[in-house]
Amino acid sequence: MRYVSTRGQAPVLSFEEAMMTGLARDGGLYVPETIPQMTHAQIAELAGASYEEAAFTIMRPFIGDAFTDDEFRAIIARAYQGFGHDARAPLVQLGANHYLLELFHGPTLAFKDFAMQLIGQLFQASLARSGKKVTIAGATSGDTGSAAIEAFRGLDNVDVFILFPHGRVSEVQRRQMTTPVEDNVHALALDGDFDDCQARVKDMFNHFEFRDAVGLAGVNSINWARVLAQVVYYFTAAVSLGAPHRAVSFTVPTGNFGDIFAGYIAKRMGLPIDQLVVATNQNDILHRALSGQGYVTQGVTPSISPSMDIQVSSNFERALFDAYDRDGGAVAQLMDELKSDGGFQISQGAMQVLSETFASGRASEEETSATIATQFKTNGEILCPHSAVGVKVASELPTSATPMITLATAHPAKFPDAVEAATGTRPPLPNRMADMYERSERVTRVANDLTAIEALINERRRA
Ligand SMILES: *Cc1c(COP(=O)(O)O)cnc(C)c1O
Repeated sequence: MRYVSTRGQAPVLSFEEAMMTGLARDGGLYVPETIPQMTHAQIAELAGASYEEAAFTIMRPFIGDAFTDDEFRAIIARAYQGFGHDARAPLVQLGANHYLLELFHGPTLAFKDFAMQLIGQLFQASLARSGKKVTIAGATSGDTGSAAIEAFRGLDNVDVFILFPHGRVSEVQRRQMTTPVEDNVHALALDGDFDDCQARVKDMFNHFEFRDAVGLAGVNSINWARVLAQVVYYFTAAVSLGAPHRAVSFTVPTGNFGDIFAGYIAKRMGLPIDQLVVATNQNDILHRALSGQGYVTQGVTPSISPSMDIQVSSNFERALFDAYDRDGGAVAQLMDELKSDGGFQISQGAMQVLSETFASGRASEEETSATIATQFKTNGEILCPHSAVGVKVASELPTSATPMITLATAHPAKFPDAVEAATGTRPPLPNRMADMYERSERVTRVANDLTAIEALINERRRA
């Protein structure tokens, strides 16, 4: 299995190389050259399998010869053993034909753990074999950073630096990043918003001298291995509801388009998915783009679902690559326009392709709060604000005989203020992390300045 860049100018890589690299050297994102297919019979066989067995079957064709089957099984087993639920990704029912896929039972209570825990184990296995050391740099709107720090803390060959927007993440998110004591992990509070954090990380990757000197590796949602890990729960959820004999639809609370792109890959592999619905908060660039209004950035307006407060949605580039018939030159041109003009129009042909797969909707702040309140009242279900955006958008769709599965992307206790404001009840942290508020914090405030950030990384990294 070989991986190519969405901008067509970077070297073709193996799975392991693409995972270690993150962003391609031409600024693009790696995607598999071809999408492995699962037959009806192979999908049917997933029924009744454990999450780990399903994960092995679904991901195996993508990793090539990076690991033996035994190694890969062991990696998967270690990745998910710290989850607080045996099913890993359980489904609960919200209404007649509406289900919630709970993706928040991992160690940092958000769906990012599915990918990050796996990536931590993949890196560990790969670096132990090569003896190499890497420096991981990542930007986070809150959940990626905590998941990355949790996945990599204490690992020998890895130093981790996470940039988060100062004052714009929830207290639980911040504490998950600032309380681990291991000296290979560093939480950096940047004076700026998430897009600034993401832009500085991209700058570091495009500064090849620095990139090569520190062995920079990326684990942001642009990393292909993360997308791959997320493909698995689309299969397990669909199969629990009768796939491949029955089609299902998904609504996905979206920011960087990583999670929903995994659903698109599942569909391309042969999983019968009817609709893939992008659900955005008031920062709705994706909803506007998919509604035919062009991909045009506006400022970020902080919301009660901060992990979706994004205006440059990195993984959307992967969808554009396919929509433009895998023309890397065309994608590179759009991304140049985005950089110089703050946006671009999507061609009619590409819009046609995108609208065959994706629908979209948007929930305002008031609608999100009202949805949290209603679900609590009618079902006793406590939603985090991101999941509530998804539930609201799904509930606005025309009724259909196809089951709708909305992804619950975080545990409500990760966003207790918004949940308490809507329901009057403060959701408690699960017992296993109840001492979170007592641990002491370690964080460095940094300016939105590439040179200063690079100097800090050089000074702090152990390698
Ligand atoms: C990251 C995140 C999202 C958005 O996921 P993308 O892959 O960026 O679309 C939604 N909800 C929560 C809780 C998140 O942490």
